[in-house]
Amino acid sequence: VVVCVFVGLLWPLFPPEKSVIWFAALVGTTALRFVLWMAFKRAAPGPDEISPWRKLFFVGALAGGASWGLGPFLMVQQAGRAELALLIGTLLSVCAVATASLAPQRSAMQAFYVAALAPLAVEIWRSGGKSERIVTMVILAGIAALMIAGSRSSRLIRESMEAQNSLGMAVEDARKAREQAETASRAKSEFLSSMSHELRTPLNAVIGFSQLLGEDEEISAEAKDNIGEIERAGMHLLSLVNNVLDLARIEAGKLELFLEPVEVKSVLAESISLIAPLARKHNIRLEQNFDKCETAAVTADYVHLRQVLLNFLSNAIKYNRPQGSVHLGYRVNHGKARIQVLDTGIGIPAHKQARIFNAFDRLGKEAGPVEGTGIGLIITKRIVEGMGGAIGFESVEGRGSTFWVELPLSDIT
Ligand code: ADP
Repeated sequence: VVVCVFVGLLWPLFPPEKSVIWFAALVGTTALRFVLWMAFKRAAPGPDEISPWRKLFFVGALAGGASWGLGPFLMVQQAGRAELALLIGTLLSVCAVATASLAPQRSAMQAFYVAALAPLAVEIWRSGGKSERIVTMVILAGIAALMIAGSRSSRLIRESMEAQNSLGMAVEDARKAREQAETASRAKSEFLSSMSHELRTPLNAVIGFSQLLGEDEEISAEAKDNIGEIERAGMHLLSLVNNVLDLARIEAGKLELFLEPVEVKSVLAESISLIAPLARKHNIRLEQNFDKCETAAVTADYVHLRQVLLNFLSNAIKYNRPQGSVHLGYRVNHGKARIQVLDTGIGIPAHKQARIFNAFDRLGKEAGPVEGTGIGLIITKRIVEGMGGAIGFESVEGRGSTFWVELPLSDIT
């Protein structure tokens, strides 16, 4: 289209045979460059195979520039001053447009300028006197200006293409890394959950049969003690396996929560009654204050909310001091329902508090007498987050801790 416009505009001013040659040269090189572009697209060469294509592109640009320069070169002898100005203007504007398309490859762009303008400059120089030489100088200055401006835009375009390229590569790397991490995490979750299933069945048998044996009247007191130890160890192992299974399920995104309006008072009362035997065993006083939650309701999954509270309460009992107490309370905090468990226990040293929600981190209690798995709180946190709530705690070493959960309030329907 551009070729037709230019040749058409200049047609009346110059001999038709020269215009035809010019037109043919332009259309021919344009067609050849189009074929080259198609071949390049089909070959879709990788970075190692690009070099010959770069050379072909250079030759194409050179041929393109030469074919644009050919017409003015042929016509300059017949041209008056106005026509000459028109020819120079045509070539300079074509070169300016070529800058935009050829800038990514600077050598091709420079080849285009030289091939388009140099023959005309030489021909004008040859044709005559002082003013022609000045015109030649102007064209050479034009080539120089184009080279400088072109190099600059070439550099900018290359930089932005490289930045785009490396951004694309970084995005691709990140995607691959995420995929790998997801596959690894899925494999880990699947392994953990199948292992946990395999372990639970024989463990239930160990616990069940040791309970049966323990009830046998005929065995000695010492044997009963030993059987009691087997049962206790079995129970501990079972709770570890159950917790691991829970965590694996949560991490695999398979935690199913049924959110509904839950009456706060009933979940608090049930948690207290379930935990009471443990509190009695440890000689811990259980206190409760349900005054403020007579009619309150939260949006939660009942069973999992109870699991959260039981985890808070059992920790508050386990990590308490002799004759200590645990207080379960409720209040509304900034428009949210806050249920909290306060204990008068050993507290958590400030420097360990950041690790509290790390899986399998018992904050140094591993060797102590209190049994635990170190994953209760991370499970609790995931459940609370899954219910759209928040979890937190405050603790002072030697004084006690308060663990709390905040959930959206709900209207009981
Ligand atoms: P577990 O109790 O099975 O070890 P958790 O994930 O429930 O695992 O708790 C992680 C750790 O946080 C515990 O090992 C304990 O060191 C500390 N912790 C949790 N609750 C309390 C609490 N109420 N008082 C003091 N320390 C606590």
